[in-house]
Amino acid sequence: MTAQALSQRDLATVIGLEVHVQLETDTKIFCGCSTESSEDEEPNSRTCPVCLGLPGALPVLNEGAVEAAVKVGKALDADVAEHTRFHRKNYYYPDLPKNFQITQYDAPICADGTLEISVEGQRREIAIERAHLEEDPGSLQHKGGGIDTADYTLVNYNRAGTPLMEIVTEPDFRSPKETRAFLAKLEEVLEYLGVFDAARDGSLRVDANISLVPADEVADDGSIGTDALEAANRTEVKNISSHKGAEQALAYEVTRQKNAVQRGRAVEQETRHWDESRGITVSMRSKEEEKDYRYFREADLPPLEVADWKQRIPIPELPDARRERFREEYGLDAESAAKLTSTKEVADFFEDVAEEFHPDLAATWVADNLLGELNYRDLEVTDVDDRLDEFTRLVELVAADEITTKNAEEVVLRRMLDEGEEPDAIIDAEGLGTADDDEVATAVAEAIEENPDAVEDYHAGEGGAINFLVGQVMQKTGGSADPGDVNGMLRDRLDE
Ligand code: ADP
Ligand code: ZN
Ligand code: MG
Repeated sequence: MTAQALSQRDLATVIGLEVHVQLETDTKIFCGCSTESSEDEEPNSRTCPVCLGLPGALPVLNEGAVEAAVKVGKALDADVAEHTRFHRKNYYYPDLPKNFQITQYDAPICADGTLEISVEGQRREIAIERAHLEEDPGSLQHKGGGIDTADYTLVNYNRAGTPLMEIVTEPDFRSPKETRAFLAKLEEVLEYLGVFDAARDGSLRVDANISLVPADEVADDGSIGTDALEAANRTEVKNISSHKGAEQALAYEVTRQKNAVQRGRAVEQETRHWDESRGITVSMRSKEEEKDYRYFREADLPPLEVADWKQRIPIPELPDARRERFREEYGLDAESAAKLTSTKEVADFFEDVAEEFHPDLAATWVADNLLGELNYRDLEVTDVDDRLDEFTRLVELVAADEITTKNAEEVVLRRMLDEGEEPDAIIDAEGLGTADDDEVATAVAEAIEENPDAVEDYHAGEGGAINFLVGQVMQKTGGSADPGDVNGMLRDRLDE
């Protein structure tokens, strides 16, 4: 179809993603070099003959990377291959010292999976075509300009050989916003599996393929025929490293491609680069074809047999299922359930607390109080989960009325986090234990005796008087009485 003819019809956006995620392993995928990077490490210090691609060096597959890939496959409800193998993808680029990348080609470890996303309350299934293992190349540092204007470029092979999983979706996205939801969901699942760290720099990299097809090619169920997909010229946008970046880069591309079509110009099939600082995509090169890579079998690695691994390697309950269970088992509302499953560690912590207390009390203390105070301090549950006992002790003291909720929240919890002290020690030091009944009764009697004017006002029906008296009692008991109880006791005495 000519561009002119296309412009006469409504256009639908079609997007497919190729997502590279870094798998959390101790060592690189084909050698024993550490994957633990640090900010002040020397360039090219975490390397060996294998990841530098020196002649004669032989790769040895890291079992941990394969286990992680199997977990990802199970979580995506994919087929995990029983027999799989590696290929060489040949291309010349300075970040790749061997001139080929070891990757998977015709027998990926995972295929035919799916991930459900929810956008504006609408659930959608995104099909995963494949997910395979490969090695990361090194990294380039352009000096004196960007990729196209630098004076010179430095290369660092510390990253070379880091295990990656490339997850390829079907072209199932119909808007940039959906890709953002997908990436967030994918990261959440991968973090639950314990195979991924979103906070690690460069742990997520996305290539986004985008084209426009005539809207009448989209069937009622949202599917688009293969012919229409193949006929559409698409661009592949590289260098996207965040959820937001994906949405922005794709929104830019939608506009750019629509403009081209409206002006009667064809969309070029090409690879483009997302320039985050300028918020635009720029043309890099015409798109490579598969034959450009001269794939052939990696003869230095034997075929991989993982027949029984899928049974052998367990995965934890995934976020959606856990949210659902929290709502049913603990009677939580959607918002609390979402908060309490935001990470696996938060969910585990909550369930430990909920074992000992009523779920509502546990939910309030973890979701509202603890997460709120942690967030304020830029801390995570993982920073305090070794203090679970102290936290449950605090909730226990509240539940037993040995300390007021207000003091527990505003004094004890905060001091626990700021000073690292234990709840009982803080309560002793601050004299926060709740007053016993005698003490409160005495304070009530005193307050009535010492404030005849307020008593008179109370009997005259003045609303503020009781609050004043409650305040007096609270002062006398050093804030250790329960204001609601005090109010009741005062009224009982005054109404006698
Ligand atoms: P190739 O290997 O030629 O790049 P693939 O079929 O392997 O093509 O698909 C690569 C990526 O492009 C996948 O994420 C896929 O979903 C996406 N894709 C395929 N067709 C289209 C299209 N018409 N528009 C947008 N993305 C597409
Ligand atoms: Zn190495
Ligand atoms: Mg492909």
